[in-house]
Amino acid sequence: MIGKVKKIYLTSILEEELREMLKGFFKSEPYRARQVFDWIYKKDSEDFSSMVNLPHILRKGLSEKFLISSLSIDNKKFSKDGTRKYLFRLEDGEFIEAVSIPAKDRLTVCLSTQVGCRFGCRFCASTKGGFIRNLRTEELIEQTLKIKKDTSDKRITNIVFMGIGEPLDNYENTIKAIRILNSYAALNIGARKFTVSTCGIIPGIERLSKENLQVELAVSLHSSEDKVRSELMPENKKFPLSILIDVCRRFISETGRQVTFEYIMIEGMNDRRVDIANLVRLLKGLNCKVNLIPLNPIPEFKFNPTPLKKIYDFCAALNKQGVKTTLRHSKGRDIDASCGQLRQASKSIK
Ligand code: SAH
Repeated sequence: MIGKVKKIYLTSILEEELREMLKGFFKSEPYRARQVFDWIYKKDSEDFSSMVNLPHILRKGLSEKFLISSLSIDNKKFSKDGTRKYLFRLEDGEFIEAVSIPAKDRLTVCLSTQVGCRFGCRFCASTKGGFIRNLRTEELIEQTLKIKKDTSDKRITNIVFMGIGEPLDNYENTIKAIRILNSYAALNIGARKFTVSTCGIIPGIERLSKENLQVELAVSLHSSEDKVRSELMPENKKFPLSILIDVCRRFISETGRQVTFEYIMIEGMNDRRVDIANLVRLLKGLNCKVNLIPLNPIPEFKFNPTPLKKIYDFCAALNKQGVKTTLRHSKGRDIDASCGQLRQASKSIK
């Protein structure tokens, strides 16, 4: 008996790949691929029967070879600041979360890249349930499309891979999703509007620097001392700060792009005067920016965020000493939608 042929998710391929497939399967003209992309990416279509400018026979053929949607919105939460948190149910019954964050002239979507996370950063909720699996390209794209449909009054301007998981530990799918979303036939979001955030996966940063993709790299730093950083982020034991900063330096020189260092402010842990001096020593002269983020509380990590006044002083001191630093005000805290508060479990949205 011949097994069932596996269908292909339309949201996992580029327009040129679809063009070739349609030619091979149905001898279709090249422009048909663009029409299909328009239905999916511009008109939010989720079924083939709605694609009325395609011949009936092609719609039927498409439904035999392809699939459109692999996840659904299971629940939604609204923050008073406009942030929305989405709980997605995946085909295999797993759950992940993503967030949309509106600002005056932009709409940022924060995507998850994995079900769970294997890196065990102590302050981060996403890692508490362990690692289950990587998200596939179509699951990355469809988080975006479902949010696009739900926030149709605003155009998505930025995509950050800062939800659950480690994007550089799911390298191929993350890069493919960026290439698709960036392409003209899909959402046409500029490469510079994507931010890949990493806890410091060295081989991933090296690979990214050779991609010829103008994406933003954000590195979660959180301490300028190996002892403290290893305590907070076990990955630091494998790749200590000297190696991390070295690879960032190479990324900057190879891509000509600035790196952002994210730095969570944790009271008494990494907000001391000596931390300012250490940060200056570590980062001065590097084409980079530090982004200070007050710790978002999670029950499993019994520390407090640094008081805001002290964060302002920390920020000013770094700027004064030549390290460009800004303060990021987290959005969506009231619905646990801020950095480090996302979880894969369905119980996280009540
Ligand atoms: N794994 C990637 C991306 C996911 S985390 C990474 O580590 O960068 C996205 C950002 O949220 C990171 O900078 C992470 O350090 C930060 N974050 C995690 N937990 C947080 C918390 N409790 N409060 C504030 N930021 C947190």
